[in-house]
Amino acid sequence: MATAKTKKIPKTTKQTASDAQLEHQRLESLINSMSDGVIATDLQGCIALYNAAALDVLDVNAIKKGDPVESVLKLTNEAGDPLDTRGIVLGSKTQLISRDYKIKYTDGSTAALYLSVSPVHLGYGKKGDSGFVIIIRDITREKSLEEERDEFISVISHELRTPVAITEGAVGNALFLADKTGDIEKVKEALENAHKQAVYLEDMINDLSTLSRAERGVLEENIEDINAHEFVESLVSLYAPDAEKKGLSLKSDIDPTLEILHSSKLYVQEIMQNFITNAIKYTESGSVTIHAKQMKDGVQFAVSDTGIGISKGDQARVFDKFFRAENFQTRQQNGTGLGLHVTRKLAQLAHAEISLESELGKGSLFTIYFPNLK
Ligand code: ADP
Repeated sequence: MATAKTKKIPKTTKQTASDAQLEHQRLESLINSMSDGVIATDLQGCIALYNAAALDVLDVNAIKKGDPVESVLKLTNEAGDPLDTRGIVLGSKTQLISRDYKIKYTDGSTAALYLSVSPVHLGYGKKGDSGFVIIIRDITREKSLEEERDEFISVISHELRTPVAITEGAVGNALFLADKTGDIEKVKEALENAHKQAVYLEDMINDLSTLSRAERGVLEENIEDINAHEFVESLVSLYAPDAEKKGLSLKSDIDPTLEILHSSKLYVQEIMQNFITNAIKYTESGSVTIHAKQMKDGVQFAVSDTGIGISKGDQARVFDKFFRAENFQTRQQNGTGLGLHVTRKLAQLAHAEISLESELGKGSLFTIYFPNLK
């Protein structure tokens, strides 16, 4: 019986070519699946290869192979001044990594860029040539979050430093007076000053913790029946002593048809307290009134005052984080500029709508509509 000889079949040229093709396709799909933009250039900075994400970051539909890199990648510095892209790429003798460049688009807009340029020696362009691999990523959002965080830390540390220094000074002074003079009135005065600063610090810490809760963005699952009438009356009795101390009258204007409101009591309370404390704080004479009106499917509250008022330009900004009006009357009062920012966040969570009417020197009216939540 003849046995069939098993012979090792040599790889044909055809097979080797299809292997290479497969390998090429694998590499192509690998770089196209990357979320970072990849561009490879030859030694002269002309584009030899790019992936799909590069088109996104560069905001173009296609790139012509052989085009100079600077025709699509227009780098600028952080101030927006144009830079020599080709010089930066060709000048990278070792790997360059930067988060300080921006890319400028044809419509003039810019985006913050992560840029990495690596010289490579495997050859793009002519076979055997060396070149550069450029990796790009839009980091605008990351950068703005970083800037916001830095600004937050700098404002908070600045805002904390003053009251802490005053408290330290006042307590030191009280100790000194108690020791040396025993003048109880003077000691009391110094301690009252320290106490005022401690209360301010407490307010600020409360604002910050409410802000962090609100920024996490979930309405706490405590939707309750709020008796709107009783709620307004309780606010009046809570704040009447503060108003009285400033010689202001605190009034209420309650719609007799007021019904039960279904909302987060915690948020409604926090928001109304912010409006009322501001109204008292920024009013030197006259009155503060809390209004409540029954609407079709909810309750509209408002707080009006006869205080310093807010200019038209500032009205658009009072809800911004850390915003405080640049005037003498505002600066006379302690404040962090966080209260109304927190208020707006909480209002969003409670699906409430805020509006503001104000005139400088006449007073302000903050209105908020709370819909019934299920
Ligand atoms: P602050 O801690 O400064 O009171 P807020 O966020 O509560 O911070 O308010 C931001 C700014 O809006 C205040 O600094 C003030 O300039 C202005 N503002 C808020 N409420 C009133 C008001 N009732 N009358 C006049 N100005 C107000």
